[in-house]
Amino acid sequence: MSKILVTGGAGFLGSHLCDRLVAAGHDLLCVDNFYTGSKANIAHLYGNPYFELQRHDVTFPLYVEVDQIYNLACPASPVHYQADPVQTTKTSVHGAINMLGLAKRVKARILQASTSEVYGDPEIHPQVEDYWGRVNPIGVRSCYDEGKRCAETLFFDYYRQHHLDIKVVRIFNTYGPRMHPSDGRVVSNFIVQALRNEEITIYGNGQQTRSFCYVDDLIEGMIRMMGTAADFPGPVNIGNPGEFTMLELAEKVLRLTGSRSKVVHRPLPPDDPRQRQPDISLAKAKFGWEPKVSLEDGLRQTIDYFRKALGLN
Ligand code: NAD
Ligand code: UDP
Ligand code: UDP
Repeated sequence: MSKILVTGGAGFLGSHLCDRLVAAGHDLLCVDNFYTGSKANIAHLYGNPYFELQRHDVTFPLYVEVDQIYNLACPASPVHYQADPVQTTKTSVHGAINMLGLAKRVKARILQASTSEVYGDPEIHPQVEDYWGRVNPIGVRSCYDEGKRCAETLFFDYYRQHHLDIKVVRIFNTYGPRMHPSDGRVVSNFIVQALRNEEITIYGNGQQTRSFCYVDDLIEGMIRMMGTAADFPGPVNIGNPGEFTMLELAEKVLRLTGSRSKVVHRPLPPDDPRQRQPDISLAKAKFGWEPKVSLEDGLRQTIDYFRKALGLN
């Protein structure tokens, strides 16, 4: 049994990670300021003596004793991370400094939930880890993209300067149960719109692509990366290489929900990446990971979840 800290543990990915780690018999501390996360995501763990919840903002120091840290605290949806962009950068940068300082003091292994957004609007396709990316440093997405890039820099400087045991994963678009219905990301938007027979909002012409990973696959990849040898800090891509346009995604959601919704087009937000697909050869080679859940199967699970969450069955 290890003592494990999960920051952002009440969020979409964090709550699934808490479930897996508690089920594996670990002693878990979940830290969250509930900016985008919710108690509903973790309430089922409250009675468990090996689950502990602490309301805390990672931009402030945290003194606890743990063996491992998964640092997930950060809003992930463009709508939410752009609502208070200065706080988003603080969460990524000050949050990373505090969690790295904590890891240094207690000699814990620490994993950073980084993102495919470090590649920006990429010229290399699919994206490999040694591609440096094409990120606008002053745009509306920069608070998130540059915050996450700076967090990666801090992780690698603590690795080189203080010999910290670090792991960096670059997560590509992930979806599944417990996304917030008003989260604003494309999968939750399309499903909620389809289930309510409201207009499906495609931003731009819908030809931009994303690669969608089901949450269970993602969490498995993250935990496997945490278990790799200390001489492999990453960064490593985790995502599903299946690549779809937003028009294709809308069509699938409409078919799987049997919805009467019409597709409408809305303006494309600034700096919206045109394409995104992970090269996952490194994850396969280093820890034998690849995703197992197809987009259709994952969408079915997610649609079932939203039907219940919206009280539609
Ligand atoms: P989410 O918004 O559901 O979860 C983020 C959690 O962090 C929330 O519970 C929120 O309340 C908490 N949080 C935010 N600021 C905080 C702060 N200052 N102190 C403490 N807690 C704070 O998003 P998610 O999809 O679960 O993403 C989790 C992590 O994975 C994020 O770091 C995100 O950048 C990364 N990521 C997610 C995706 C994805 O597609 N889901 C893709 C790439 C990277
Ligand atoms: N820190 C923390 N918990 C700890 C140890 C450190 O939150 O258990 C914070 C501390 O506030 C500091 C940051 O982590 O600002 C970086 O710590 P580090 O020791 O690397 O740097 P220093 O304290 O020298 O600034
Ligand atoms: N998108 C869309 N309609 C929506 C929400 C998003 O067409 O209602 C598009 C968005 O412009 C982007 C893609 O879907 O091209 C993925 O957006 P999301 O916010 O989920 O994630 P990110 O842009 O960070 O990959």
